[in-house]
Amino acid sequence: MDVSLWVEDFTAVTNALDALRASGVTDLRAWLAEHPGFVMEAAGWVEVLDVNEATARLLEARGRDEVMGSLSLSRIFLPETAAAFTDELVMFWEGGTRLELETVLKTLRGRHVDVMLTLTRPSPEHSDRVFVTMRDVTAQKASQRALQESEARFRNMADHAPVMLWVTDVTGRSLYLSRSWYEFTGQTEAESLGFGWLGAVHPDDAERAGTVFLAANADHLPFQLDYRLRHKDGRYRWAIDSASPRFGPAGEFLGYIGSVIDISDRKQVEQERERLLVAMDEAIRIRDEFLAVASHELKTPLTPLHLKLQTLARVAQEGRGPQLLERLPADLEVMQRQVKRLSTLVGELLDVTLISGGQLRLEPEPVDLGALLHEVALRFDAESQRTSTPIHTELGEVVGQWDRARLEQAVSNLLANALKYGEGHPVHLRTGRTAEHAWFSIRDEGIGIPAEAMDRIFEKFERAVSERHYGGLGLGLYVTRQNVRAMGGTIDVRSAPGQGATFTVHLPCRVSGESAAGGLAR
Ligand code: ADP
Repeated sequence: MDVSLWVEDFTAVTNALDALRASGVTDLRAWLAEHPGFVMEAAGWVEVLDVNEATARLLEARGRDEVMGSLSLSRIFLPETAAAFTDELVMFWEGGTRLELETVLKTLRGRHVDVMLTLTRPSPEHSDRVFVTMRDVTAQKASQRALQESEARFRNMADHAPVMLWVTDVTGRSLYLSRSWYEFTGQTEAESLGFGWLGAVHPDDAERAGTVFLAANADHLPFQLDYRLRHKDGRYRWAIDSASPRFGPAGEFLGYIGSVIDISDRKQVEQERERLLVAMDEAIRIRDEFLAVASHELKTPLTPLHLKLQTLARVAQEGRGPQLLERLPADLEVMQRQVKRLSTLVGELLDVTLISGGQLRLEPEPVDLGALLHEVALRFDAESQRTSTPIHTELGEVVGQWDRARLEQAVSNLLANALKYGEGHPVHLRTGRTAEHAWFSIRDEGIGIPAEAMDRIFEKFERAVSERHYGGLGLGLYVTRQNVRAMGGTIDVRSAPGQGATFTVHLPCRVSGESAAGGLAR
C-alpha cells in the first residue's frame, strides 16, 4: 500500500509555544480552547521540507513541488484536522516524541480523505524536524461506516419486528437479542446473552432445546424447535424458534440468526381441535352403539308379539272357538306388555329428540305427589306380580304446582328400573316435604350401582349393566333428570353394588309466577 512520507519543520511553531510558556501559560490545551484561531494560524507556520510521490498523489497535487516549501498546512485542514493538530501541539508542548492519530484532510482539489497519521519527532532537543507517515484509510472507513450503518439498520428493524430475533456467534453464544425478547421475557441483556436465554425456557424443555441447538451448530444446518418460554408475568407460553446459519463472504460459518414466535394461541386452537376430534369420535362411537342397542331393543318385543298374533290367527282360522277363548287372556297380557315396552322405548326416543331440540314444554298444574305415585304404582301392578316384586308405599299428600305428565314419566321410569333391577325384592315408595321442597324416593333392594357409574348413568345412552342381562336404551334416567331439572328440581342416588338403590327427587314447592298460586293454595 502507498505510504506517504513528509518531513516538516516546526521551528516557528516551537518558538511561538516557547513564547507562550514565557508569558506564563501552563495548560496549553486550556489556553488553546480559549484561543481557537491559534491552531489554524500555527498550521500555517509549519514548513513542509520534503514529501514523497505518494504524498503528492494523496493530496491530489500536480507534483511534489506543489506541496514542498510553498504549501500552508491550513489549506488542507478541516475543522476535524484542527482538533488533531491541537493534540500534536500538546505533544510538542509536553516534549513527546511520537503520536498516532486518525483524522481527515482536504486535498488540494477539495476532496476529503480519511487518513491515519504517525508523527515522529526523533530528537526534540536538537531539532524541530517532524517525520510524518500517512495512510489513506478512506475506503476502510467507508466500509466501516457502511457496516455500522447496516448494523444499526438491522438492530432498528429487529427491535421493531413483531417477532423476537436473535443472533449467535460461531460458538453458539448469543450476541444479540431484539428488544421484543426482553419485553416478552423480562430478562435483562446481561441475563440473556451467551447461553442465558435458556434460563427463560421451561425447565422440561431447556435440555432438549439446548441439545437441538448445539447439534445444529455443529452441522451448520437450519433448525426449528418449539418450547415453552416464560413470559414476564411468570406464565409459560408455547414458542417456535426457527434459525438459519450465517456465512461470511468466504463461506465460513459465522453463527445463526433466528426468530422466536409466540404460538400459544395457535397451540391452544390445535389442542381444542384435538379435543373436539376426540369428543366427536366418542359421540360417533356412542351413536353407533346406541343404534345397535336400539334396533335390538325395538325388535325384542316384536318377536313374541308376532308369534302370539300368528298363533291366535291360526286358531281363529281353524274355527277353534273354545280354544281361542281359553288362551286369549294370557296371550293378550303378553301382547299388551310387549306393546307397552315398545311404546315406552319409542316414547323415550321421542323425549330425547324433544330435549335435544330444546322443545321440552312444561304445563304446570296442581298435583298431589302422593296420589300421583299411588296411581303409577297401580299401573305397575301386573309387572309387580309377574316379577314377584312387592311394592310398598308410604305416601302422604304433598301438593305442588308441577307438570303432571313429566312427573308421571319420571316416577314411572324410576319404578320400572326398581322392578327391573330389584331382583324380586320389595320396592319402597315414599313422599315427604320440607319447608322449601317436596320429595319422593323409590328404593329397591336389588343389584345396586357401582360407585364408578353413579354419575354417568344420568347421561344419554349410559348404562352400568350389560345388554345381555338387562335390556334398555340407557335413556330413562337421562330423560328423568331432564324432566326434574326442567321443573327446577334435583335427582340423586344412593347405592352400593348388591345393596339396592335409592333414587330421591326433590322438587321446589313454590314455583314462580301466577301458576304457583293454585299449587300453594292449601
Ligand atoms: P336403562 O335402564 O334403559 O338401561 P336408564 O337410563 O334407566 O337406562 O338407566 C341407566 C343405567 O343405570 C341402567 O342401565 C342401570 O345400569 C343403572 N340403573 C338404573 N336404575 C337402577 C337401579 N334401580 N338399580 C341398579 N341399577 C340401576
